[in-house]
Amino acid sequence: MKLSRGRNQVAIPGPSIIPDRVLNAMHQAAPDIYGEALISMTDGIYRDLKRVARTDGEVIVYLGNGHAAWEAALSNLLSPGDRALFISTGRFTHGWAAMAQALGIDVDLLEFGFESDVDPDVLAARLRSEGAENYRAVLLVQTDTASSVSNDIRAVRNVLDAVGHPALLMVDCVASLGCEPFEMDAWGVDVTVAACQKGLMVPPGLAFTFHSARANAARVPCRSPYWDWGPRMDAEVFYKRFCGTPPTHHLFGLRTALDILLEEEGLEQAWARHEIFARAIWAAVEHWGQEGNLTLNISDASKRSTAVTAIRTGPGEAKRLRAWCSDMGLTLGVGFVAPDADGDSMFRIGHMGHNNPPMILGTLATIEAGLVALKIPHKTGGIVAASGIIAAA
Ligand SMILES: *Cc1c(COP(=O)(O)O)cnc(C)c1O
Repeated sequence: MKLSRGRNQVAIPGPSIIPDRVLNAMHQAAPDIYGEALISMTDGIYRDLKRVARTDGEVIVYLGNGHAAWEAALSNLLSPGDRALFISTGRFTHGWAAMAQALGIDVDLLEFGFESDVDPDVLAARLRSEGAENYRAVLLVQTDTASSVSNDIRAVRNVLDAVGHPALLMVDCVASLGCEPFEMDAWGVDVTVAACQKGLMVPPGLAFTFHSARANAARVPCRSPYWDWGPRMDAEVFYKRFCGTPPTHHLFGLRTALDILLEEEGLEQAWARHEIFARAIWAAVEHWGQEGNLTLNISDASKRSTAVTAIRTGPGEAKRLRAWCSDMGLTLGVGFVAPDADGDSMFRIGHMGHNNPPMILGTLATIEAGLVALKIPHKTGGIVAASGIIAAA
């Protein structure tokens, strides 16, 4: 029976839920793009973005998505023919590496598959191997949104230091910024790339790059005037910061989202909340999985993202479950099992950004109802396990 009145729940790993207050902040008349009010609001946004990334470095804001941030970072630091090491723990580094290849960068891939994080010893061995001294950059994702693994970025920095390798450390935090602990400066990250539509709760449209003083000194002549950090950093007139018209209404939305994240909740509190919701989801899946085929893609809890969870099912079960939940008003994330496979036996729950217990528990309860309705084998009571985590928090 059709039951899906009310507000739909979208539990995909980005774009994430947009707070009504962010939407409302965007709903206003066009501002004077040369006016002092917009300029000073933008100054404040830049300051606060750096607080979110925990850096005193530079932030650049583009009209763009995560792919734009990828290309921007590559374009400012790597020239055609430069060699770089891309570390893959799922799918997203492959996308970044493919873009680098198209830009003429000499790409090496260090592959850890779809169910593990970076192994520091394997990375150290690669960095000590013949020819590795040419790597100008080492690039990876903090959270791979496909596998839902979370990499220990500090450990990667430690490997570079231990080997004495001078490569720039470039990290994709599109899925994790604002959700998972990240300390750009303390962890020695040279470049962070992010976007506004995941942990930062703003509709897709803004891309961010953050870079350290070391990365700034290592800039190469940027062949794209649009991506070039130089004019944007030294903008003597406001429009040059955006290489054209500023993204006025996205900035209004982002201002409100940053207020919610930094002033009302607090960044560390947001990290802690994400962890509790993640643990509730893991408890439910582990409980269901005591019978049947549901399992968490990342078996080691300490290596799981707290922003997104990938779940494996028996053949075809994920596809049926997603369809059933969709009819009920719940959108679950599609699964990426491998670049050449479809998502029929894997799905993802996005739990980044603007969520509360009714949203998380509602998602899990709807999934459990779907498991029952579709006669997908599972141990009943996952929702009780999840509730226990929320109750204990
Ligand atoms: C979503 C995502 C991207 C891509 O972002 P787009 O806005 O879709 O271009 C890149 N990296 C990670 C880790 C992501 O989660």
